[in-house]
Amino acid sequence: MGQVHSEILPGRVQSSNMSDYTQAVANFKWEDVERNFSWYDTGKVNMAHEAVDRHVQEGRGAATALLYSDAVRDESYTFADLQERSNRFGNVLRKYGIGKGDRVFIFMPRQPELYFSLLGILKIGAIAGPLFEAFMETAVKDRLEDSGAVALVTTPELLHRVKRDELPNLRHIFLVGGTTDIEQGNLGFTEEMDNASSELELEWLDLDDGLIMHYTSGSTGKPKGVYHVQRAMIQHYYTGRVVLDLRPDDIYWCTADPGWVTGTSYGIFSPWLNGVTNVVRGGRFSPQDWYKTIERNKVSIWYSAPTAFRMLMGAGESSIQGIDLSSLRHVLSVGEPLNPEVVRWGDKFYNQRIHDTWWMTETGAQLICNYPGMDIKPGSMGRPLPGIEAAILDDRGNVLPPFSMGNLAIRTPWPSMMNSIWNNKAKYEEYFRIPGWYISGDSAYMDDDGYFWFQGRIDDVINSSGERIGPFEVESKLVEHPAVAEAGVIGKPDLVRGEIIKAFISLREGYTPTAALKEEIAAFVKAGLSAHAAPREIEFKDKLPKTRSGKIMRRVLKAWELHLPTGDLSTIED
Ligand code: ATP
Ligand code: MG
Repeated sequence: MGQVHSEILPGRVQSSNMSDYTQAVANFKWEDVERNFSWYDTGKVNMAHEAVDRHVQEGRGAATALLYSDAVRDESYTFADLQERSNRFGNVLRKYGIGKGDRVFIFMPRQPELYFSLLGILKIGAIAGPLFEAFMETAVKDRLEDSGAVALVTTPELLHRVKRDELPNLRHIFLVGGTTDIEQGNLGFTEEMDNASSELELEWLDLDDGLIMHYTSGSTGKPKGVYHVQRAMIQHYYTGRVVLDLRPDDIYWCTADPGWVTGTSYGIFSPWLNGVTNVVRGGRFSPQDWYKTIERNKVSIWYSAPTAFRMLMGAGESSIQGIDLSSLRHVLSVGEPLNPEVVRWGDKFYNQRIHDTWWMTETGAQLICNYPGMDIKPGSMGRPLPGIEAAILDDRGNVLPPFSMGNLAIRTPWPSMMNSIWNNKAKYEEYFRIPGWYISGDSAYMDDDGYFWFQGRIDDVINSSGERIGPFEVESKLVEHPAVAEAGVIGKPDLVRGEIIKAFISLREGYTPTAALKEEIAAFVKAGLSAHAAPREIEFKDKLPKTRSGKIMRRVLKAWELHLPTGDLSTIED
């Protein structure tokens, strides 16, 4: 496949040399990124055009866009195929009177039809709302209701979780793998697609017209509808080049489900804007299956999450034996703090440094990252993307000096910054309560090389005997102990110390939960970190409560501990 965009991008950090990064930052202009888009000249925007149609127009239609497989299907689609399928679905939606600005949700497992539908929705200027397939009735209803979705793409298997009687706005349901049933109000996806034209007149949009809505994963409270606009593509494209290091011949695998923002920003938009082959693997996680996916598809760039890396690590060395992972060129992580122990595992067994990236649903794209070629400090999230200014602020908005723990904040605006929180202006404004800054809700510090170090969610920071302790540091030390598979640390109210550190731990296979082991683990943290960071209480659990995107839910641990209601659990794993 030929060159996608030939210009050298500013903002690319070429080497571990610190001055290289400084220079990339100094020379950076967003306009130089914008020049790579067709709308830079025409002013007419559509994500699906830039990610799909444009490649066909420019002679790359025969290149492989999607490599899909699961236990039964094994399929490959070119950019021309994606264009054809998404055109058809766009026409189907128009036939039912759906158009610009309408919310169309998708509630189904990761299968090619999910990707065709999502692109079809974008082609007509509607707003896509992907939902994770594991959501139960109430979670689905809350999101469809809040967004006022007019149509839904789902499967016959999931249909019973859709309370259509209680959703007056929801006019049409398309069933992938189902047939039309007028009485029930269902439309067969394949039937509709077959009857639709493969030619479509694209809806041209403005940069501030809608793109996608994501309900966040709910680690800290009730999910909120984060609304993103077309402009985000600037950053999706740019970070694909300078952070993911996507090059035309890459085979890229992002393991996230499109129900979460990583699964769209980096599972759809970024790779296809950059014209690379995108691997999608359906079905459940298993170490063998994942390693085989890399080997079979010759994956060169792999973007996953700490929870997955920890599970792979937990499966041990034997799970990699006989598998050829030599196709890997670049490995990245997002979603939770990346424990140094995991980075060392990557060095040793994947022959790859795992590159941490920090961002959130609200930020739309990566903001603080480790760049290809740069010196990685295990445990650090890296440095701000050229074009992005990050700082640590106190609660009044003063910028703090290096090594002070405080609010991780980003200078507003940046291209992929959320446009709003759907139906919740007050919540949106909370993020911007300090003029000129976006307050992330995460706690971090910056070192004197300008690297940022995550400490925990602001609400999770523990105050013990006057010391502020980030749970992440303690958790990372805990997982270095050979018996510990995963750890979640909270502050437990204590009359004397304000709070004490309590650790919930799941053990690796082969270890028995004993009082002696508790003592040994506490002593291990004390020796390796500090006395005040050592957990005073340890409780063993078979499993820790996690969101379906794999994040440890500390608020649930805390609620258990304090015998309080656990709050919204719609995103918890069963
Ligand atoms: P909710 O906002 O509903 O509570 P959530 O914050 O888990 O859910 P996301 O937007 O998916 O939803 O996650 C963003 C958060 O994940 C960040 O604020 C941060 O706490 C954590 N996170 C993401 N990447 C990293 C990283 N590289 N290092 C540390 N933490 C990270
Ligand atoms: Mg959040």
